[in-house]
Amino acid sequence: MRYAIAPHGIFWSLQGEAHLRGFQMAFLRLAGCSVGCPTCDTDYTKDRMLDLEQIIAEVRAVMPVNRDGWVWITGGEPADRDLRPLLGALKAEGWSTAVATSGKHRVVPPVDWLSVSYHGGYPLAQKYGSEIKLVDELGGMDFDAFLAEYPDDQTDFMYRYVQPHWDGKREDPESLRRCLRWLAKHPNWSLSRQDHKHWSMP
Ligand code: SF4
Repeated sequence: MRYAIAPHGIFWSLQGEAHLRGFQMAFLRLAGCSVGCPTCDTDYTKDRMLDLEQIIAEVRAVMPVNRDGWVWITGGEPADRDLRPLLGALKAEGWSTAVATSGKHRVVPPVDWLSVSYHGGYPLAQKYGSEIKLVDELGGMDFDAFLAEYPDDQTDFMYRYVQPHWDGKREDPESLRRCLRWLAKHPNWSLSRQDHKHWSMP
């Protein structure tokens, strides 16, 4: 089994968003995305194809010595392809696995952490997971409209986040205020920010 990897797609960094914020982890960015958000700024073009053995070797190379850690699979949309061989190979190394998805497709377990970032414009297929994150105005995101379609009691996420969007090189202060006003009325939701950008991390 081989997977298409995005440019600079295997690296070590800090998770900057949502519940695992601050965790050090290896990131694995798969190429390709079927979602097509109009404001996407992620380079998910295909750089190279790697088999499982090559992926494991490269992940191991970016991990600090003797460190058993997290591997965060992102994209693109990782769930556009069968992730089971990849997840199984990473687990066999003793690593914890996380998948970041738009929620357009169901993600087949086993995965230790499932992070759903709904971008709007498609039916949410993945209605359960470890966390869900909504980014203000991404793809015309309206938090109230999302809740009208997917009320909290009809989805099953351990943690729920809203996040302000970035305007060029900074977080949009008005977007942050919108998030804070909305959170004041929705106490079971929390604030996420793109802290890796504040930290100048990839
Ligand atoms: S799901 Fe993510 S990678 Fe895909 S188009 Fe939307 S923002 Fe870009």
